[in-house]
Amino acid sequence: MAAFLGALKKLSICLILWLNTLPFLQGGSDYYEFKYPFIKRASSFWASSSSFSSSNTDEASYDYIIVGGGTAGCPLAATLSQNFSVLVLERGGVPFSNVNVSFLSNFHIALADTSPTSASQPFVSTDGVINARARVLGGGTCINAGFYTRANSGFIRRVGWDERLVNESYPWVEKQIIHQPKLAQWQGAFKDSLLDVGVSPYNGFTYDHIHGTKVGGTLFDRFGRRHTAAELLASANPKMLTVLVYATVQKVLFDQTGRRPMAMGVIFKDENGNQHQAFLTNNRRSEVILSCGAIGTPQMLMLSGIGPKAELNKLNISMVLRNEFVGKGMADNPMNSVFVPTNRPVEQSLIQTVGITKMGVYIESSSGFGQSQDSIRCHHGILSAEIGQLSTIPPKQRTPEAIQVSFWKRLPGLFPRGTSTWSTPTSMTTLQLPSTTSTTHMICSDALTGSAWLPRLYNQNISQTSQGVTNQL
Ligand SMILES: Cc1cc2nc3c(=O)[nH]c(=O)nc-3n(C[C@H](O)[C@H](O)[C@H](O)COP(=O)(O)OP(=O)(O)OC[C@H]3O[C@@H](n4cnc5c(N)ncnc54)[C@H](O)[C@@H]3O)c2cc1C
Repeated sequence: MAAFLGALKKLSICLILWLNTLPFLQGGSDYYEFKYPFIKRASSFWASSSSFSSSNTDEASYDYIIVGGGTAGCPLAATLSQNFSVLVLERGGVPFSNVNVSFLSNFHIALADTSPTSASQPFVSTDGVINARARVLGGGTCINAGFYTRANSGFIRRVGWDERLVNESYPWVEKQIIHQPKLAQWQGAFKDSLLDVGVSPYNGFTYDHIHGTKVGGTLFDRFGRRHTAAELLASANPKMLTVLVYATVQKVLFDQTGRRPMAMGVIFKDENGNQHQAFLTNNRRSEVILSCGAIGTPQMLMLSGIGPKAELNKLNISMVLRNEFVGKGMADNPMNSVFVPTNRPVEQSLIQTVGITKMGVYIESSSGFGQSQDSIRCHHGILSAEIGQLSTIPPKQRTPEAIQVSFWKRLPGLFPRGTSTWSTPTSMTTLQLPSTTSTTHMICSDALTGSAWLPRLYNQNISQTSQGVTNQL
């Protein structure tokens, strides 16, 4: 009886703890408002703007204005707020109460959600490359596959960063949001296959970027819950930080009276479409920092009048500074996926094991993000077998509408006789250095949609290694 009562007591304690942590696991709004009191909707800007007003202006002013609260923007804001007043403007909402963001099991659902409020904004480049970019506080860390590794030290040296400072920064991030993965069965088999095809040695679990096969860090904890860059804001000085969500920056404002244009503030729209202005303090070290992502950043420069003359003229944007390099040299790491259909469910896993080859090809794998005949409703964008290599649409005709039509037509063929589930382990090869680059062009001057990207990167045969690994599996 005593043992029974003891067990009952333990069970009640567990239940109470579980009920208390449920809102945390689900990212309930109470939780985030308590933990991040400085995150507000953009429409509240006037009400909250008095906190950082400088003496010589009625407008709110800040030492730093960060445009884009993504993977780079959030840690930057947390760090700068220790000593300076900081405003972060993010066009998306918060990730905390978004189940598509919070759970590994919904990785593909987030990419499939094409609604205007989705954390993932799908797009197809003008030459037919299907892709997605983040539209949420925390940026790419809210929609990506969560794999974490430290940078290639050769890269740090090449770009001229302070190696000591970079190395000191890693643990700050790792302690807060990075986890050692519990190796999924599929990832274990994948590790053995990589070693079988000669991607060696096996380096075990490490954050370091070294040749061979290794297990790296992940944003997902052991409950499959995603931790994003937005959580790094918990380290900020709350008194010095304002983060506005649903704040779409339209342009950077410049003082053009001096010898060179100086950024002095930004114009942004709130969730109701109302326009606001925020300004820098009258301090020579104040800056507007653009961290809107690889596409959003050149787009923002051009919207603000900095870019190639012809590009700005085309859209009647008055030129602040001519710079022919803006938008140039755009490159992505081309990825080639091999899909392995199974008619048995396979445990879901995102990237844990990777092969880092000396020839600059990276190999990674995910599993279990398939579909059943009952559940299949739409394609899953970037990582979707339904529209990827199996696609029959010529690249130049791959509009979102055309993809959806083709998807429905080909649906019966996705489930060959006797297959009711399409669980997909996937093996992907990614090129470290693409051999070609391209240009980001503006197709209209709308900050919400206005950029097009023209990469022509698919001229290398990178499928061989992926196929080799898949054969081993
Ligand atoms: C499907 C997918 C899987 C990936 N998997 C991995 C992985 O496993 N590991 C890995 O290391 N990398 C991965 N990546 C890449 C990685 O996520 C990105 O390289 C990284 O997030 C880019 O960070 P960023 O700060 O440059 O941009 P982002 O994180 O995209 O941040 C830019 C932010 O700016 C905001 N913004 C843009 N324009 C405006 C505007 N006008 N006004 C206000 N805000 C604006 C956006 O909403 C966004 O939040 C993946 C990417 C994708 C798409």
